Amino acid sequence: LTQIPISLSFSPSLTHPRTSKEAMPEAPKNPLKVTDYSVTEKNKKALQFIEDVTANADEAQKRVLTEILTRNAHVEYLQRHGLNGHTDRDTFKKLIPAITYEDVQPDINRIAGGDKSPILCSQPISEFLTSSGTSGGERKLMPTIEEELGRRSLLYSLLMPVMNQVVPGLDKGKGMYFLFIKSEAKTPGGLVARPVLTSYYKSSHFKERPYDPYTNYTSPNETILCPDSYQSMYSQMLCGLRLNKEVLRVGAVFASGFIRAIRFLEKHWTHLCNDIRTGTLNPQITDPSVREAVMKILKPDPKLADFLEAECGKKSWQGIITRLWPNTKYVDVIVTGTMSQYIPTLDYYSNGLPLVCTMYASSECYFGVNLNPLCKPSEVSYTLIPTMAYFEFLPVHRNNGATNSIKMPKSLNEKEQQELVDLAAVKLGQEYELVVTTYAGLYRYRVGDVLRVAGFKNKAPQFNFVCRKNVVLSIDADKTDEVELQNAVKNAMNHLMPFDATLIEYTSYADTSTIPGHYVLFWELSINGSTQIPPSVFEDCCLAIEESLNSVYRQGRASDKSIGPLEIKIVEAGTFDKLMDYAISLGASINQYKAPRCVKYAPIIELMNSRVVSNYFSPKCPKWAPGHKLWNCVS
Ligand code: AMP
Repeated sequence: LTQIPISLSFSPSLTHPRTSKEAMPEAPKNPLKVTDYSVTEKNKKALQFIEDVTANADEAQKRVLTEILTRNAHVEYLQRHGLNGHTDRDTFKKLIPAITYEDVQPDINRIAGGDKSPILCSQPISEFLTSSGTSGGERKLMPTIEEELGRRSLLYSLLMPVMNQVVPGLDKGKGMYFLFIKSEAKTPGGLVARPVLTSYYKSSHFKERPYDPYTNYTSPNETILCPDSYQSMYSQMLCGLRLNKEVLRVGAVFASGFIRAIRFLEKHWTHLCNDIRTGTLNPQITDPSVREAVMKILKPDPKLADFLEAECGKKSWQGIITRLWPNTKYVDVIVTGTMSQYIPTLDYYSNGLPLVCTMYASSECYFGVNLNPLCKPSEVSYTLIPTMAYFEFLPVHRNNGATNSIKMPKSLNEKEQQELVDLAAVKLGQEYELVVTTYAGLYRYRVGDVLRVAGFKNKAPQFNFVCRKNVVLSIDADKTDEVELQNAVKNAMNHLMPFDATLIEYTSYADTSTIPGHYVLFWELSINGSTQIPPSVFEDCCLAIEESLNSVYRQGRASDKSIGPLEIKIVEAGTFDKLMDYAISLGASINQYKAPRCVKYAPIIELMNSRVVSNYFSPKCPKWAPGHKLWNCVS
């Protein structure tokens, strides 16, 4: 998801007559050779491509849909819905329903089980991308095809030309990006299932990218591709420190990941500085390919080690990024959506360097880019690139900003289906749920993101990311909804039964003041029994909640260590009445008042914290294993 521009040859411009298929800007057919390389020329082409596809957004969309439906005319899914080879928008919209994951899950399960017939897509499904969105507690499996890698590369290749317009000279130095792979599993039918970025970093599109000053990273590929997350982080940080003067931009995919890297440095700087001083590599780094790659960069540098030690040893870490990497021009991380909770921490560590959100993407499809990358995080909008997929938009009517606490309806009625509008027909200021039809076999699939139209680039809309539907808690890639939280709390309550204690009310919040952040639950109890509840019982409750949460949460806790132990804070009797009084004083309706299952507003969190009588943490990590609970793992 981050800056990995890859050489592409763009097909003829969309402003030319679009009579042949070649007029469609497509995935690369003949990646440029190193010898053909010209930064300026390539930047110009990329920007022209953006001009063309946005100026002709509706035409591009029409062509994308026709292309998808023509190729897949015979797939079982479309036949089942009676499309019968039609490729026009009207028939498609009339016959094909807008769906959620659960609707297509039986087909996905067949493919995962080894059925190779063209069920969703005429091209072979090359692998499954495991989304951080879950269904039944497990990651959703998104089908993908080989050529989608080209489409992803195309989107990446637009990022630096856009960036170069506002921050020139980035080709004169390096990017320090903390990028990681995650474990993968095999479906019963033998297809690989892994996160989209793992798939991308392991592909030749990334590993064998031709030389490009914009893909000049401090992290050697071997350090990114190391499956051991400690070794990967250590070696990437070491290379970043060693090359500190050359670094012009820093980043990670999400803000949470970048902050974790800084935290890692806080913990391990003495070892890292020692390696830089002596030019030798910490024996904890055992992966031979990582050792070899890092040793090519490392050399004894006592002066640099002195400097780094002096800076890291200071009491305050404010501005540590600009201190250690003095030529950094911006921090490249996603801070839109739930990641906005990390903006103050990033501002602190970076002394207010620009925070740049470059793109918006998912396992289903890569969507778009930010054409104004130096804007404030609150103003970021993404221009959907009309050649990536066929996009539709379901109007969303939020009440009191509560979209993400409303359960997504199972299926849309006929009237709602008719409300879906095309990319070029969305209205400024209106909020919509994103619906995609992809080249890889998802048809009118509801992604679950709510977007607001913020403006237009030519004829193509630009969207603010508003929220992900249903999500109440998120620290890293995890997305926990109200129902999951409710079930988890219910399971935990079993531990309190012997003490005749009942839960009167609860709420939660994502505490990002710790690194990594963690979930906090406020519990108000009514205790009727006479036996005091020992702390270990509350700790068991914490763990029971964690064990009940979805696999992305448990992976974040147990494997990635990107989420800290869950905390229960017991509040004194009457706290939730106080919360209600406060909400009503702010204008909530007394009749309709319901305790929120998640609180975000700082004064409310303060109110809750002021009434805490005791707190408990989960004593260990919940269980997690790669892959779906029903499959065998390969790693
Ligand atoms: P995944 O399917 O795990 O790749 O997650 C994709 C989801 O991450 C999207 O549907 C969004 O909810 C979220 N996401 C991706 N990019 C952004 C972004 N730039 N800003 C906010 N949320 C994002």
